[in-house]
Amino acid sequence: MRKPIIVGNWKMNKTIAEAEEFIQAIDPIVHDGATFGVATSFLALQTSIKNAKNLIVAAENCHFAESGAYTGEVSIPMLKEIGLKWCIVGHSERRQMFGDTDETVNKKVLALVANGITPIMCCGESLETFEAGKTEEWVRGQVKAGLAGLTAEQVGDMVIAYEPIWAIGTGKSATKEIAESTCAIVRDEVRKNFGEEAAEKVRIQYGGSVKPNNIKEYMAEPDIDGALIGGASLKVDSFTEIIEAVK
Ligand code: 13P
Repeated sequence: MRKPIIVGNWKMNKTIAEAEEFIQAIDPIVHDGATFGVATSFLALQTSIKNAKNLIVAAENCHFAESGAYTGEVSIPMLKEIGLKWCIVGHSERRQMFGDTDETVNKKVLALVANGITPIMCCGESLETFEAGKTEEWVRGQVKAGLAGLTAEQVGDMVIAYEPIWAIGTGKSATKEIAESTCAIVRDEVRKNFGEEAAEKVRIQYGGSVKPNNIKEYMAEPDIDGALIGGASLKVDSFTEIIEAVK
């Protein structure tokens, strides 16, 4: 049985003080029904890790190199030093605005795994690709490229988030049928490349306008093991409702 995993991706929101206040409010209500967590800015990670007893804390990005002339970047050893255990990689916003490619996403995933940090690797198609009926081909390509070079065991331990770009921040969530069918494709691509055991173990999230009123529908689908949540993870009230809904 895969344990569900629900992570709030705060993106470029919340100062250190705001992150601390939020975690102090949410952490005590976290229950065992799922792994719950938040992904914060680099600046808020240390405080968040310190305050989170039950929540997991993720970075939203990292660089793949150990160190070097990469102005403005943060390395994995720096993240390890503060006790970080999880990291989102290849979010569509990073692919679209900050030059992440399948190749750099793969380098980041490999480097994270080598350092004992669990990647939450994102994939997902644009509206254009969706409307052209090319979602399957696109997502299979991203998953295969992003996971290249990992062992089946390493893939089984990670998290993959399917986030259709057209559903992110738009309030236009994918139907549960669409979300399920693409998450099943992601799992099948894992099966094809890494075998049945990795496919059965890997946790696959849906992301894109997940809210307290639709989380249950997604969670009821067999290939959806959780959610990566933007907007609805920013307010204590709505994140609390989501945590309660997943009991
Ligand atoms: P929203 O939940 O705001 O649509 O964001 C989804 C997302 O990008 C999570 O990573």
